[in-house]
Amino acid sequence: MASNPKREIDLSGFPSGTVTEYTTLVCLACIFDIFTKQLGLAPRTAFSEIKRHTPTIEELTSRTTMRPYFDSEEKHPHCPYCESGKRWLARFDTYCIEGRKTTDAPRRALVKKLPQSGEQFLFVDKKSDSRVVFFEWLDTLRLNLDLNDETWLLQATCNYLERRDPATNWQEIFGEVRTVRRSSRISQGWERGGARLFLPPTIYAEALLIQYLVSRSHAHGGLTSEGRLTLMELIRKLRYFGYLEQIGITEREPGEVFEKLIDYLASTHDWSRVTTASSPAHEKGVSAGKGSDRVSRSKKAAKKSSKKSSKSRKSTPAPPEPDEITTEPVKLHYLIDRRDFLEKVKSVYASYAA
Ligand SMILES: [Zn+2]
Repeated sequence: MASNPKREIDLSGFPSGTVTEYTTLVCLACIFDIFTKQLGLAPRTAFSEIKRHTPTIEELTSRTTMRPYFDSEEKHPHCPYCESGKRWLARFDTYCIEGRKTTDAPRRALVKKLPQSGEQFLFVDKKSDSRVVFFEWLDTLRLNLDLNDETWLLQATCNYLERRDPATNWQEIFGEVRTVRRSSRISQGWERGGARLFLPPTIYAEALLIQYLVSRSHAHGGLTSEGRLTLMELIRKLRYFGYLEQIGITEREPGEVFEKLIDYLASTHDWSRVTTASSPAHEKGVSAGKGSDRVSRSKKAAKKSSKKSSKSRKSTPAPPEPDEITTEPVKLHYLIDRRDFLEKVKSVYASYAA
């Protein structure tokens, strides 16, 4: 849909992958019909009620919609329930911001900039957990990828690395990368040789896992940089890379291993702190790009996580101990843009009253 550029909300202050955008259309003809016919309100009362109306978070963010809400990719959408056109259709834009250390400041700055009057914007906070957030992120990733174009494997890896390490400008790095390889010469960070990007076995393992999760289907497994893999084959590879051992997964049963893997990937959401733990002298994989201050801070925080004492130092971002692989609570901050809705309700009411 065409959008008014003045209306655009500037999300550039947020680390990549921390904000999910949803657009839902609502048919005012349908909603008016519901308020007058089903709820029996007089037209005037109906309009003043409709003006106050805000869909639930579920209605705004669900991939499946119900009357009077619908999703449409069309330039000139029509209501799928009553065929009403443009004049009757209003749009809600919803932004879901993951509550994390790195999103607190940009979120406050954004809220400050938005108009506060007339309920043009609504703010809703919801408790969630790392697993739900992770699957939502995967879902969004899948929707944004074209699985018929094999460069999606690179794109998925890039998006995953952005989520894991927002301080590095991965888009720029991937601009020249054609293949991603596993390198056992490096244990942290990354290296690039021409069009090849080398990742340590553990990070490479996670990239495969993400690719698998994005493309998996029950019968044929998932597509990865290592070819199409069934869950069993994937787990065998991850074990061979030393990944399962590193993150403390000792289970043998594939289903249990898989569940632990998901919880691990989902719960280590502040991945940048883990990935930059390394000996700085040989660090090739820390860019001095836009987030260089953040890099140095996280590096300092990360220091060296020697295996034996990682538990005693609270601030040491070592990979979780086996018993720490659990779902973590996450706060989600929803921002609902009601401006288009308010305008449309007003204009529809004006034409009614006339
Ligand atoms: Zn309709």
